[in-house]
Parts: sequence; structure tokens; C-alpha cells
Amino acid sequence: MKKVVKFGGSSLASAQQFKKVGDIIRSDESRKFVVPSAPGKRFDSDTKVTDMLYQCYAVAQEGKKFDDLLKKIKERYDEIISGLGLSLSLEEEFKVIKEQFKAKAGSDYAASRGEYLNGIIMANYLGYEFIDSATVIFFKEDGSFDADKTNQVLGKRLENVERAVVPGFYGAYENGVVKTFSRGGSDVTGSIVAKAVQADLYENWTDVSGFLVADPRIIDKPEVIQTITYKELRELSYMGATVLHEDAIFPVRKEGIPINIKNTNAPEDPGTMIVESTCKLPKYTITGIAGKKGFVSVNIEKDMMNSEIGFGRRVLQSFEDHGISFEHVPSGIDTMTVFVHQEEFEGKEQQVLAEIHRLTQPDSIDIEPNLGLIAVVGRGMKSNRGTAARIFAALAHVNVNVKMIDQGSSELNIIIGVDNRDFETAIKAIYDIFVTVQL
Ligand code: ASP
Repeated sequence: MKKVVKFGGSSLASAQQFKKVGDIIRSDESRKFVVPSAPGKRFDSDTKVTDMLYQCYAVAQEGKKFDDLLKKIKERYDEIISGLGLSLSLEEEFKVIKEQFKAKAGSDYAASRGEYLNGIIMANYLGYEFIDSATVIFFKEDGSFDADKTNQVLGKRLENVERAVVPGFYGAYENGVVKTFSRGGSDVTGSIVAKAVQADLYENWTDVSGFLVADPRIIDKPEVIQTITYKELRELSYMGATVLHEDAIFPVRKEGIPINIKNTNAPEDPGTMIVESTCKLPKYTITGIAGKKGFVSVNIEKDMMNSEIGFGRRVLQSFEDHGISFEHVPSGIDTMTVFVHQEEFEGKEQQVLAEIHRLTQPDSIDIEPNLGLIAVVGRGMKSNRGTAARIFAALAHVNVNVKMIDQGSSELNIIIGVDNRDFETAIKAIYDIFVTVQL
């Protein structure tokens, strides 16, 4: 049994947190490959080391003195080292970093030092081998991740390694210049390492006991999802549920390696298992609810639209020509509605409308702003009758007007459009009907 374990910033923010992580790793000998993030926040108003590095580098880039800022970063690490009782010094490392900052090595290099240094400490603390990610994780010239080369080099490098620490978040271009993934990218590194070593499980340790059925800012203490499929996760993440970096799914999904989201502060909690497929039905017909506000619907009407070939394509082309991606396109016989992000649309509104007019000569176009979209996601819906009926009865009961309904052919989700003002009420009503009263 081989596990890759990734620990997020809050799990490694202090010596005390490091000790919890050490206990977790030592309690299971299959936890062989460790991917650490940079130290995160120790308390709410604290600053993540990654952010401190970005700030420090911005000052260095302006040619100003950055010694004090760098010293503060070093203090974060020294506090961890002394708290763990290690005889390790990062003096030399910080000298190199200072020189590199002066030489304007780039903000990616700067940010990557958060994980790099934490990896050195972690390897020292555990007695594991340290592998610099810049030597095993690669990016192509165009900045995209080079999955093939990475898998080959990393796989080979780890082939005969019993236990290792591979810092998260960064890799390098072919020429050795460091590049990071987008923020939260250590999740992606964990997934890449899991693939390269053909792990049985990728454990992603964070500060929550898994994915929640709904947003805790809307629902008081929502239930944890026990098992979720990759497809469901994608739907929920797309609609705003965040725990895991979106790109972390792809490397392991193809390999059939499950991800287990676990809580460093409550290691006994089972967390959430993310799997390719499962015969386990979710506890409550639905797996989760997520949503986003800030959409606009553009409703286009034209008599006999149904028989006009290419009408839909011309409408969508008007959006494409202005670089606007569409979210949903519900349609009627002589109507077609396009849902887009309000922020994206606002600045280009009149140009898009003019183009729709020019390309399709509609009878009317009507715009409705300030809409929220809610996704009710669940593999259990396919085998359960009456799911939609329950959702809409619940919404009617709390007086929420439904503006749009979209159920994909996969029967994995139902998307509901409501006024922004009804957004929270609608989510609460749906949560209650499925989870609280457990119909
Ligand atoms: N430290 C990086 C960040 O704050 C990457 C990570 O934690 O995954 O975004």
C-alpha cells in the first residue's frame, strides 16, 4: 500500500501543526510521499508565507530594501524549526534567496520558496529524502504543465525511493526557471506525485473534515459528503464549492486513484472520498448544493425561430466574438436565453446586442441582470423519482420564483436560476427538504 499525502498551509502553519502532521504520517507506514504547502495562517488575521513572499518580492523588484520583510519570513520558519527541536539552519538558503530576489528571479521563484523551505524542514523532521520539485515537475514553453515529461522523470526519480518529500506548488521550465501553478496549486502537485508513483490513495489533508453538502456561510453546520464522484465534484466546484484545486482532479482521475479529503485537526474523521465511480448511493438523494450569484440572462425572441437553421449558432457567435463564454442556453420554440457572467458581459453589452441584432434580426431582446444559479448535484437522482418535484415544491413553499431550469441529460444535476435576492433562501429550502427532513 502506497499513499501520497498532501498537507495544506494551515496544517503546516506552526510547529504545533507540524507535530500533528508528523503524528499522522508516522501512524501509517504507507504514507510514503509527502507534499507540503507553505506555512499558512496561524490565526485569522495572520498572513500566509506565500503572500509575504509575493509582497517581499514586489518590493525587491522596485529596487527598494526588502531585508526586513525577508527577515520576517525567515522568522516564520525559524519558529517552526526551533519548536520542533531540529538542528537545521536555513541561513544559507536565505542568502541564496536574497541574491535571487536582487537579481529579479521572478515572482514565481519568490512564491515557490514557501513550499521549498517547508519541504526542507519537513524532510528533516521526518527523516525522508527531499526532492526539489524544480528537478522533477516540468512546464512547457507556453506555460502549460508538461504532464508526459513530468510523469516520466518523476516516476523514474521516485522508483527506488522509499520515502520522500516533494514540495507542492511549483516546478520549472526546461531551462530550470521556476514556475508555479495557480494559487492553491500544491493540490495539483499531490495529484501528480500520486500518479507518478501509482499510489493506492491520495490523501489531501486540510482544515475541514471533507466536502460539505452546502456552503457553511449559508447553512449552519452542513453535513459532510462521505463519497463523491469526480463528475459530481467537478459540477460542485464549478459552481463555487472550493476545497480542492480544480486541476488536481485530472492526473489521478485517469489512473483511478481516489482522493481522500482529511482534517489534520480531526484525523479520526473519515473525511470525503472522491472516486471515479461507486455503487454507494449518497445518503440523501442529492450529494451537494452549490451556487454562484452574478449572472445575466439575455432573452431573445423571434417568431418562427424554431425553423430558422443556424439561429442558435449565430447568437452564440455574437458572444464568442466578444470573448464571452456562456453558461446555459435554455430555449423555447421561439425564444432562446443565454446565461452569462454579469461581470464579463457588462462592459461589452451593447456590442454583443448590436451583433445579435445584425446576425439574427430578432423581434426583441430582453435582459435580466442579478441572477443566481444553483446546482443541485447527485448521482442518486438518476435512480430516484420525484427529485425535481421535491426541489420545486420546496422553492414554491418559501416563495422563490424560479427563473430557469436546466437538467443535463446525464441526470447528474439540476441547475436552477433565481433572483440574487432569493439565492440563500433557495439553497436553505433545498438543503432542508433533502437533508434536514430527509425525505
Ligand atoms: N502556497 C500556495 C498558495 O498559497 C500553494 C498552496 O498552498 O497550495 O496558494
